Amino acid sequence: MSTSPVRVRFAPSPTGMFHVGGARSALYNWAVARQSGGTFVLRIEDTDTARNRPEWTQGIIDALAAIGISSADPTFEGPYFQSENAGRHQEASLRLYATGRAYYCDCTREQLKERTGSEHLGYDGFCRERGLEFAEGRALRFRTPDEGETVVEDLVRGKPIFPNASIEDFVIARGDGSPVFLLANVVDDLDEGITQVIRGEEHLSNTPKQQLLWEALRATPPVWGHLPVIVNEKRQKLSKRRDKVALEDYLADGFLPEAMVNYLMLLGWGPGDDREIMPYEEMERLFRIEDVNTSPAFFDVKKLTAFNGEYIRALSPEAFIAACAPWLTQPRAPWRAEAFDAAVFAEVAPLAQTRLTLLSEITGNVDFLFLDEPVFDEASWSKAMKPGAAELLRDVRAAYANVGWHADELKIVLTAVGERHELKLGKAQAPVRVAVTGRTVGLPLFESLEVLGRDQTLARLDAALLRLSEV
Ligand code: GLU
Repeated sequence: MSTSPVRVRFAPSPTGMFHVGGARSALYNWAVARQSGGTFVLRIEDTDTARNRPEWTQGIIDALAAIGISSADPTFEGPYFQSENAGRHQEASLRLYATGRAYYCDCTREQLKERTGSEHLGYDGFCRERGLEFAEGRALRFRTPDEGETVVEDLVRGKPIFPNASIEDFVIARGDGSPVFLLANVVDDLDEGITQVIRGEEHLSNTPKQQLLWEALRATPPVWGHLPVIVNEKRQKLSKRRDKVALEDYLADGFLPEAMVNYLMLLGWGPGDDREIMPYEEMERLFRIEDVNTSPAFFDVKKLTAFNGEYIRALSPEAFIAACAPWLTQPRAPWRAEAFDAAVFAEVAPLAQTRLTLLSEITGNVDFLFLDEPVFDEASWSKAMKPGAAELLRDVRAAYANVGWHADELKIVLTAVGERHELKLGKAQAPVRVAVTGRTVGLPLFESLEVLGRDQTLARLDAALLRLSEV
């Protein structure tokens, strides 16, 4: 194996949101680079001009930064842009032609189908010995060896062997002279001195072709590592049409970046013991690309959500408040900006911290404190406001008008009122909670009432009594 310093790369195409599979590839490459004092190159493969947009490139850079892959780290190099290396791609394609490793071809798809009887058999080599020269519309094809085999050294999959006879003479430059992905990708890896190509399994079928290109360009191919496909609960490959796949969407829904990183690192790899929740630094130290397995990795949103809950609970109170901040301001927050009171929020934050699995749930837990009146969840209302609820609320209202305003006293009083109505505390709480917060579930009730204050609590009990008398 080569002893040159490790240079890995992440080479996304900026054609959409940042796929969680891409995030995993990036993290594995990052870990490999960092643990060996190597370099992580970011290369934006922006040659598909019809589908590229500059904002997607920025989205990739921002999403990488969110999961700790930062351009400020000396491990990081780039971004390079594939489009800026177009001259070198063309040079390579012409060199392959000049050295007899590639030939021009003017076959149409129809002609090929007529000859082979199928669209799926690959190119039959018809133009190999025709000696065609470049002309507009002629594709350049790489002449693959007829004999022997191409052995791919893959850190994840061992040594997959591809008989050369099964590799068709594939196109390396289109009829307009522009090089295709297979070639551009190799030339960039070569120019950037990449030593290990770690990427998704969907590229494995490209690898023997690319390895032949490396050899034809008289360079030692990199070591490869193809990461297992990521599947949903139906064992289908995760797809953006069917599944939630964008890292940005997970972050926007209140998944903590640290939880995402932890979960993504485990999609195909584990530390070898039963531990799952682990700081990134430790995973980086333990990660071995050779230990990545080949079976499909199940993207289990439930498990990810459970991880997220653990990460939320592990935050310091200050960090929790800071992490909630984006949900406490407009446009995410449902209350008027002036109605928000950071000190009030800080009082209830510890109560919320133990209950959330997603940061986005914070607004629903605390909105009763900042909205002028609670928004009633109708299902909660009908569940809690059973016959007798009005009488109970009236008695609670009367008792709460005079009690000392502390959670424990509020509880004692409600317990006593409940007993008079032959209701256990849990049952007596329900109509009070709905009257005050709008919902049957939420933060511990008596602490919530204490923070909300007597005036607001009584006003809401009155409003609920009015609402009950109207129906
Ligand atoms: N641009 C390719 C992709 O996004 C990268 C392939 C590779 O990593 O070699 O799939």
